[in-house]
Amino acid sequence: MKKISIFGSTGSIGSSLLKIIKNDKKNFKIELLTANKNYKKLIKQAKLFNVKNIIITNNSSFIITKKLLKNTKIKVFKDFDSLNKIFDIDKKIDYSMCAISGFQGLKPTLDIIKFTKTIGIANKESIICGWNLISRDLKKYKTHFIPIDSEHFSIWSLLDNKKKNNLEKIYITASGGPFRKLSLKNFKNISIKDALKHPNWSMGKKITIDSATMMNKVFEIIEAKKIFNLNYNQLEILIHPKSYLHAMIKFNNGLSKLLIHDTNMIIPIFNSVYFNCGKKLKSKNIDIEALNNLNLAKVDNVRFPVIKILDNMGKKDSLFETIIVSANDKLVNLFLKNKIKFIDISNLLLKVSNIPEFKKFKSIKPKNIDEIADLAEYVSLKIESMSV
Ligand code: NDP
Ligand code: MG
Repeated sequence: MKKISIFGSTGSIGSSLLKIIKNDKKNFKIELLTANKNYKKLIKQAKLFNVKNIIITNNSSFIITKKLLKNTKIKVFKDFDSLNKIFDIDKKIDYSMCAISGFQGLKPTLDIIKFTKTIGIANKESIICGWNLISRDLKKYKTHFIPIDSEHFSIWSLLDNKKKNNLEKIYITASGGPFRKLSLKNFKNISIKDALKHPNWSMGKKITIDSATMMNKVFEIIEAKKIFNLNYNQLEILIHPKSYLHAMIKFNNGLSKLLIHDTNMIIPIFNSVYFNCGKKLKSKNIDIEALNNLNLAKVDNVRFPVIKILDNMGKKDSLFETIIVSANDKLVNLFLKNKIKFIDISNLLLKVSNIPEFKKFKSIKPKNIDEIADLAEYVSLKIESMSV
């Protein structure tokens, strides 16, 4: 019986993990589920999976949930400081999935490491802003880490979960999103609905918008650099419209390896939660037609200007990453609230990444989460003043 916790259980990744567990309920005991606002779905999940503890961070949702669960055994908490009351460091649970979206995922990710034997991290923003803190705690508490983002899960699988020093170059693929072929003159008219229509993947809203601007791939390059300890010149994005090939590694001995799988996050999630269990997953035959039509191409930085941000990144882990992540979080949020246009996301991001005031952060390594959170707050206020 595996004891597990899921952060962001009401979201796309969290719900996919629960879908997997639903078919194997007797082998799992869910110790904790968390959400922000969606109390209806969280309560439904908690009842269905007999979960003892839930965290719901939005204040009004917390109050309603507490009321609705008054006469049940389910304990309702409001913030991630409660993890100390739920878990015991001497009795680590088996697996935790970090699938909160955006920058807010960093604190719970750092907080759960000491209580879990294995951690699957889907929340790329936490890896990008706080990798030096995460990797320090992974070592300190001997917690096994599995990346969930499909490209990084693919690289991790191709490396057999081992550190290798013979990597020459890694290519990760990008579908190109809904605007791969849109005429450039029409970019100014893109609506929220258009941007939320991803051609291949069904995901949460924030990452779907990031895929449309190509910011998702910028994040994934930074994520890969950190997880696999590479330089930026060892990483490249390739457009691949079918999203069948996820990553390709060239080693320095003449060999290269590629990883393909169906466009379905169930595959990395299943393989992370059942890592080393030998459990079988029913899947489709290899799609020869897709293999014959990979259509790999370089990314066009006129269509997707945000990829220029990668030329502006510092070589080492720094607080500059927090500036990029929090600026993007804020801008996507403003776009989804209809306060800025789609093209403003990229324009303002590039502007923010070139603000002289922020340059110094490229050489400052984050010391703790408060430093990251304070800077994120500052950037968010700065964006507000720029976008009105
Ligand atoms: P969703 O938007 O579908 O779900 C986000 C989850 O996080 C929900 O449970 C949501 O709760 C919760 N949440 C959001 N904001 C907060 C907050 N401030 N405090 C606490 N909880 C919060 O996201 P996805 O599942 O698509 O993505 C999750 C993460 O995984 C992201 O970082 C994304 O980049 C990454 N990822 C996702 C992929 C995908 O296919 N979806 C692929 C690769 C990576 P509520 O429902 O109550 O709002
Ligand atoms: Mg990905």
